[in-house]
Amino acid sequence: MASTLPAAVGFLAEVRQDGGRPLDAVFASLGSRAELKERTADQSLRTVVLHSGAPDGAHARARGRTLVLAGELYNQDELLRLLPPGQALPGTDAALVLALFDTYDAHAFRLLNGRFAALVAAPGRAVLATDHAGSVPLYVSAAPGRVLAATEAKALRTAPAGRPLAARPVRRLPGTHQVPAGTVLDIEVATGNCVTHRTWTPPLARRIMREEEAVESVRHAVEHAVRARTGADTPLVVLSGGIDSSTVAALAARRSAGPIDTVSMGTDEADEFPQARVVAGHIGSAHREITIPTADLLRRLPHTVRAAECLDPDIVEYLLPLTALYLRLGDQGRRILTGYGADIPLGGMHREDRLPELDTAVCRDMDTFDGLNEMTPTLSGIGGHWSTHPYWDRDVLDLLVSLEAGLKRRYGQDKWVLRAAMGDVLPHEVVVRPKLGVHEGSGTTSSFTRLLTDAGVPRDRVRRAKQLVVQELFDQVVVEGRQPDEVATGAVVELVADRLPAGVRPVPR
Ligand code: AMP
Ligand code: MG
Repeated sequence: MASTLPAAVGFLAEVRQDGGRPLDAVFASLGSRAELKERTADQSLRTVVLHSGAPDGAHARARGRTLVLAGELYNQDELLRLLPPGQALPGTDAALVLALFDTYDAHAFRLLNGRFAALVAAPGRAVLATDHAGSVPLYVSAAPGRVLAATEAKALRTAPAGRPLAARPVRRLPGTHQVPAGTVLDIEVATGNCVTHRTWTPPLARRIMREEEAVESVRHAVEHAVRARTGADTPLVVLSGGIDSSTVAALAARRSAGPIDTVSMGTDEADEFPQARVVAGHIGSAHREITIPTADLLRRLPHTVRAAECLDPDIVEYLLPLTALYLRLGDQGRRILTGYGADIPLGGMHREDRLPELDTAVCRDMDTFDGLNEMTPTLSGIGGHWSTHPYWDRDVLDLLVSLEAGLKRRYGQDKWVLRAAMGDVLPHEVVVRPKLGVHEGSGTTSSFTRLLTDAGVPRDRVRRAKQLVVQELFDQVVVEGRQPDEVATGAVVELVADRLPAGVRPVPR
C-alpha cells in the first residue's frame, strides 16, 4: 500500500559496453539524487535516481539483474499471489517487479497495474517498460554498445545520436525516442537491436451492462483506485468542484480517519471557488483557495513545457493552471490525487447527444493520448510532489472505456454512469454540474489568447501562434536545456508574433 511518496520519481540509466562518458543527470523534477554504479563482465550500469529519502527502494538486484523503478504499483496484493510459496515477501515495489521478472521475464510487465517507468539491466540486455498509460514518460537513446534511458527527455539531450527505433522520435534530439505507453522494449546492448512487446491496449469492444451493474462496477473500481493511491498520509486532492475531482475527494474522505486536504486554484479573472467550496463543506475537508494572478500564471508556461516535454498547445493549456498550482502549494512533498482523465474514456468533452459520435470521440482520444504526457508526475514533481490519477488506474480505465456508449451518455447527461455512481455521496448540484475544463474555469485559454492578440497576432492565427510558442519553448527549455526562470514567456510571444505576419511561414529551426 502506498503510504508516502514512491521511492523514486525519476531516473537516468546508462547500460554500456562502449566505455562512453556518463551523461549529466538533468531533471525538472525535484528530489535528492542517488547514483549507483555496477560492473559485470560484459557491461556497466550507471543509474541516477531522484528519490524522496529511501533510494534503496528504487533498485532491486538479484541473479545478475538490476531493476530501477520510478513510480509505484497499485495491485501488489494480486501480484504477491503469483510468487512461489515460501519465498520471502519483497519489501518494495522494485523487488516485487524483479521477482516477477524471474518467473515471467519481460512479460512480467503485462501483470502490473501501476504508475511507473522501469529499466531492467540483465546480461547483454536492457529492458525498458512503461505502465499501461505511459503515465511516467520514458525516453531512450540506443546504439550498438549503449542503451541510455531517462524519465525526462532533457536528460538525454547531450547523448550522442542513437539509432532509429520503432518509437516516437523526440523533436530535435536525434536518435532519442519515447517508449510508447504499455510497452516493453527489449534491447540487445551489443547491437542496439530491439524487440517490442505491447503490454496493454485500450479495449475496442464494448460491454453491455444493466444500469445498476454498471453503476456499481464504476463505484467499486474508482473506490478501489482511490484506496490504492492513499495510505497513512493525509491525501491532498486538487478540487475543482466538478464531478470528477469531487468523486475522488469524497471517496478519499470516506476512507480517511481525519479530514483530508483539498485545494482549488483560480486567477484574478476566473475561478470555480464557490463550486469547490460546496464539496469541501460537504466532505469536511481542510480546504484552501489559491489565487494566481494571470500574469504569474502565464509566466509558468516555460515551466509547464519543461516539465511535460509536450508540444501540443491544447494539452499545455490544460496543464498550465495545475502546474502553477503545484508550484504554489508550499507544503513539502505531498501525495496529490486528481480527477484528471475521466473525460477521455467517458467522452466527457463531447457536448452533444449522439452515441456514434461519442464512441468516435472516445476511440480517437484513446488512440491519440500517447506521447502527450498529460499524466506526467513531473508537473507536480517540479514542486517536489507526487501526483496520481485514479481514473487512469488500469482497472478503472479498462472498465470505463469498455462500457457501451449509452451508459456514458444517458437521460441527456454526459458521464452518466459516474454521476449515477455518486448520487448518494455528493450533493445533487455537484452530481449534475456540467463539465468545465480547468483551462476554461481558470481563464487560462482566454488569457493566453489575449497575450497573443495584444502582441499583434491576428485572431485567425492564434492557434498556430500557440503551437509555435509551445514549440519555441520546447526548443529552449528541453532541447537547449535553458532554465525556465530565464525564459520570458513575453519574449517568446514577441518572437512568434514577429514571425507570423499573415501567411508568412515561420523560420524553420
Ligand atoms: P478538468 O479539466 O476540469 O477535468 O480538470 C482536471 C482535473 O484537474 C480535475 O479533476 C481536478 O482534479 C483538477 N482541477 C481542475 N480545475 C481545478 C481548480 N480550479 N483547482 C484545483 N484543481 C483543479
Ligand atoms: Mg473542471
